[in-house]
Amino acid sequence: MKAYIFNIQKFSVHDGPGIRTTVFFKGCPLKCIWCHNPESQSKGKEILYDKSKCSLCGTCIRACRNQAIEIKGKTLMTNMDKCSFKGDCVFACINSARQIAGKEYTLDEVMKEVLKDRVFYKNSGGGVTLSGGEPLIHAEFVEAFLKELKKENIHTAVDTCGYGDFKVIERIAEYTDLFLYDLKITDDEKHILYTGVSNKIIIDNLFKLSKIHDNINLRLPLIEGINADENHILEVLRLIKGMNINKVNLLPYHDIARHKYEKLGRPFAGNMEKPADEKLIRYKEMFEKEGYMVKIGG
Ligand code: SF4
Ligand code: SF4
Repeated sequence: MKAYIFNIQKFSVHDGPGIRTTVFFKGCPLKCIWCHNPESQSKGKEILYDKSKCSLCGTCIRACRNQAIEIKGKTLMTNMDKCSFKGDCVFACINSARQIAGKEYTLDEVMKEVLKDRVFYKNSGGGVTLSGGEPLIHAEFVEAFLKELKKENIHTAVDTCGYGDFKVIERIAEYTDLFLYDLKITDDEKHILYTGVSNKIIIDNLFKLSKIHDNINLRLPLIEGINADENHILEVLRLIKGMNINKVNLLPYHDIARHKYEKLGRPFAGNMEKPADEKLIRYKEMFEKEGYMVKIGG
């Protein structure tokens, strides 16, 4: 059993309690235009190319056995149809201008990696968080991974966009101590426009999950011009009323992923902004008034 993972981040402090290792799975059914991890969206491997580090020396072109790279003007173009993702160009480049996003891991390999830090989990009340991309699309692997972690008595968290088969969520719920559940946009038309899919399954799954699990943190990305408005907050409050939700994280947009879009050769939607601090404080108070624990940030 194998899964594509694009990052195993140690000493993570924003993805659940204590010090954690966050395992980022590759592949996501959503395509949020503000996504901070655009390299997570595609299920397979991808080439990241940092033009600012490239001296156009041509070493990678010579190293590539598939003739997939060529110089076009002052940059390199990689023909992904020809690329075998063996990484000869990555090893050849002395400027570290090329990287491969995504590596296949077996369950044993990923367990070995996360167990290296168990002393930190123990001392800080931390554990392992499965994130992405979307962990649910690697259902079998994720279920087996969570079971192994529980056998080792490690706290588990799953960060999900909630878009998937509820049967999978139900199966993994037994081995998941904490769900970090993202709710992006309450207006369905806008949700389709900005993420590519309807929010109906996501809201329905949240409702069903709250009936069988008692540790759910709701995570709300807030982007000025898209969903950072009072109507959205009021609608979230209406939707979650009566649900078993403990905590709300307000996640203001930031544009730190801009360079990742450049490296992937994808357009970056630059017209988004972080909501003003006063707005965030007002939204925080709106949730607190209804009895929720709220944090601005992860
Ligand atoms: S080897 Fe590195 S520096 Fe040279 S052309 Fe390729 S990416 Fe650019
Ligand atoms: S759900 Fe998350 S990983 Fe998927 S596209 Fe949206 S922000 Fe990115």
